[in-house]
Amino acid sequence: MHTKTLKELSAMLHAKDISATELASLFLNRIQRSDLNAFLHVDERLTLQQAADADRRIARDDVTPLTGIPIAHKDIFVTQGWRSTAGSKMLENYTSPFDATVVEQFNAAGMVTLGKLNCDEFAMGSSNENSYFGPVKNPWDRRAIPGGSSGGSAAAIAARLTPAATATDTGGSIRQPASLCGVTGIKPTYGRVSRFGMIAFASSLDQGGPIAKTAEDCALLLNAMAGFDARDSTSLERHKEDFTRELNSGLHGLRIGVPREFFGPGLAADVEQAVRAALREYEKLGARLVDISLPKTELSIPVYYVIAPAEASSNLSRFDGVRYGHRASEYKDLSDMYKKTRAEGFGEEVKRRILVGAYVLSHGYYDAYYLQAQKIRRLIAQDFQAAFTQCDVIMGPVSPTVAWDLGDKLDDPVANYLADIFTLSTSLAGLPGMSVPCGFGQGEKNAQRPVGLQLIGNYFGEAKLLNVAHQYQQATNWHLLQPAGA
Ligand code: GLN
Repeated sequence: MHTKTLKELSAMLHAKDISATELASLFLNRIQRSDLNAFLHVDERLTLQQAADADRRIARDDVTPLTGIPIAHKDIFVTQGWRSTAGSKMLENYTSPFDATVVEQFNAAGMVTLGKLNCDEFAMGSSNENSYFGPVKNPWDRRAIPGGSSGGSAAAIAARLTPAATATDTGGSIRQPASLCGVTGIKPTYGRVSRFGMIAFASSLDQGGPIAKTAEDCALLLNAMAGFDARDSTSLERHKEDFTRELNSGLHGLRIGVPREFFGPGLAADVEQAVRAALREYEKLGARLVDISLPKTELSIPVYYVIAPAEASSNLSRFDGVRYGHRASEYKDLSDMYKKTRAEGFGEEVKRRILVGAYVLSHGYYDAYYLQAQKIRRLIAQDFQAAFTQCDVIMGPVSPTVAWDLGDKLDDPVANYLADIFTLSTSLAGLPGMSVPCGFGQGEKNAQRPVGLQLIGNYFGEAKLLNVAHQYQQATNWHLLQPAGA
């Protein structure tokens, strides 16, 4: 039962072959037995209450395709009832008085919340090792990182602790963990999914999206998740659309842009092999490969690591010991209280970014760093527009290597930043991107570790991306494989 897709679960629930309560209990049980540290907060009573509500809705035929299906939320979305920590000591005991719009929409659809998922502190990281609550283990190989920052979301899907999860992507945090855990995830066009109640990291980049087993499941989830929200000032005023509408279209004549810069010397041979095999599979499905160039790819790292910390330094100023969360227990005066609270509440990486952010925004450096980064950000977006005159979608690797070992890059923040090379530019341009399982590579110790194929679409091209991913998943079975014991 725990291996079924959302579509299959939906059919069973609505045919009353299983109840929402039975399904929720089954997953709660799996969560309880898991050693991955993927979940930070569960509350059986609340979950079963929601499941009973869903069963009542099913009994009176008041259903959506998602009614009664369990979901878990990255702990960056605020939730009434479950604590919302953003993986930080600063918010260790914080409970929100309201639900994020995304959570509200899934509740309205009748989904059942299983709990909250571990992540890097304030979504800053690529390995989930920056969580105050400890790292998540990769279910394919417990010595490996699950990726980050949405490591809990990806690991929980891979281990079938939940059939659906939310995640957020600022510079790759949906695609990279999905890739390293062998599951499917989509980061929509910036502005598609409301950021209201999503604890802010870098507001011009942050975007929520789903992680699940298949592209079809992601489409179903995105249907509930996307939509205009007046409470988010950068939410796009677009009509609701059905992201499943193109799933079954054929790919004959599809032009796939293959960026030269994504296949350079930094790419591990095993990852390249899996990605090239996926491209060949697409050719068999009728697509044509087009050689393209995204010349500013390399600059996306310095640009992102100026802009994201700049925005973070501003967003995180609200954690001052007065309005939210942790407050130092002893202090001399107000300014001492701020200092101690922030020194105690934030972890190393968050502090590093606040310092960098404050620096690049300061008088004298603003023009040299922040403004310059903004200009290059625009050029990066233009590169994509030039590429999309030659192709319909862009494909390449998500991550230059398979999951590395826990602890390997712990003392080397720059090594972590460099691993984001293939995901950052999409985020800087605000484009939609996906990761789809496409094979396995060798880990450090010869373990099988998943590889993801990245799909990048033009603005509002989610339905097309999901179609392109779904067709691949009809022809291959990488997305159906499961880690041993799951
Ligand atoms: N790895 C990137 C970072 O550390 C991206 C994180 C994210 O997308 N939230 O900032």
